[in-house]
Amino acid sequence: MTTAALESTGVPFLDLRPSHDPVVAAILEDVAALIESNAYINGPAVAQFEREFADFCGSPYSVGLASGLDALRLALLAAELEPGDEVIVPAQTFVATLEAVTQAGGRPVIVDVRDDDYTLDVEAAEAAVGGRTRAVLPVHLYGQMADMRSLADLSERHGLFLLEDACQAHGATRDGLGSGTVGHAGAFSFYPGKNLGAMGDAGALVTADDALATRVRALREHGQTRKYEHEWEGYTARLDTIQAAVLLRKLPLLAGWNESRRSAAQLYSDALADVGDLTLPAVAPRSEPVWHLYVVRTADPSALADALAARGIGTGRHYPQPVHLATAYAALGYAAGDFAVAERLAHESLSLPIFPGITDAQVELVADAVRGFFAGG
Ligand SMILES: *Cc1c(COP(=O)(O)O)cnc(C)c1O
Repeated sequence: MTTAALESTGVPFLDLRPSHDPVVAAILEDVAALIESNAYINGPAVAQFEREFADFCGSPYSVGLASGLDALRLALLAAELEPGDEVIVPAQTFVATLEAVTQAGGRPVIVDVRDDDYTLDVEAAEAAVGGRTRAVLPVHLYGQMADMRSLADLSERHGLFLLEDACQAHGATRDGLGSGTVGHAGAFSFYPGKNLGAMGDAGALVTADDALATRVRALREHGQTRKYEHEWEGYTARLDTIQAAVLLRKLPLLAGWNESRRSAAQLYSDALADVGDLTLPAVAPRSEPVWHLYVVRTADPSALADALAARGIGTGRHYPQPVHLATAYAALGYAAGDFAVAERLAHESLSLPIFPGITDAQVELVADAVRGFFAGG
């Protein structure tokens, strides 16, 4: 597209077409074949995707599930939390992290995130460990892994279950360690806008723990280890076969898509250095994020968002309300002022367009518009 044409169409916050164009025809054929076979539940695509996704992550097992929330929740259910058991979670995350804890019978203990990479503050987590602490649930926010080396050490010293919320970080690494493979288990979401997205809801849990994988496999299907033998109380939380077929076609392209996100992020970071009061995303040493989101901070993100919208540029807010101030979690007893970093992020964050196949011209158009806003134009 020419620059003039771009200026008239703007840039959407998320465009799935560049990722879907190369796979749509094959997916339609796969779905037609599936309808012929009637293998809707636990069809062969499910086990095949599980093997290939485990390989992609570098983990022995992956268990396909109906959503990222199910991956988090079933992992915590398999860990057998007792009522009142505490799970340490970061204040800056999508609400599903907390939903998993409470729905598995635990109590979320929220700690603040670091001011640089916005992931769980390990010292704050250490300080929050008490007699009832059972698990730590770090989130690899916006595509960057939390400091898993330190968190693995912390969980080992205190005998805690370590579960990674890797729902935004398919393929990220830090200190040479892969997202989802450092803790006892890692939970992934394949919500359509995630780095690997289905065409509906889907998720997976990866783990090296044979018993945990077996248990989660049973929990996703009415607690049965064999048909009609119900060892535990379970759920309907399987990975849908159609979604597995979609994911199988998309997975081989994921590494390239992550590269595309990386080069867009690099372009933004070069183009927006020293612009206005912007704080650009910080990358921790030896960290290779996969840029699920490109989040900048500024004193008045709404004004910047409005100026970009006027030029047809979409933006997002991740997240305008920190989880400790959500009405749904009022009973936990947290108040405004409890987590300064997360609260500041809620006021200051704005997510710029980033997706596989976003062109350099699109990124430059966004960056120009941002610079224009701060130049008063
Ligand atoms: C998307 C997401 C989830 C949950 O995923 P669903 O598939 O929508 O259930 C959990 N945690 C984080 C951080 C997420 O971004």
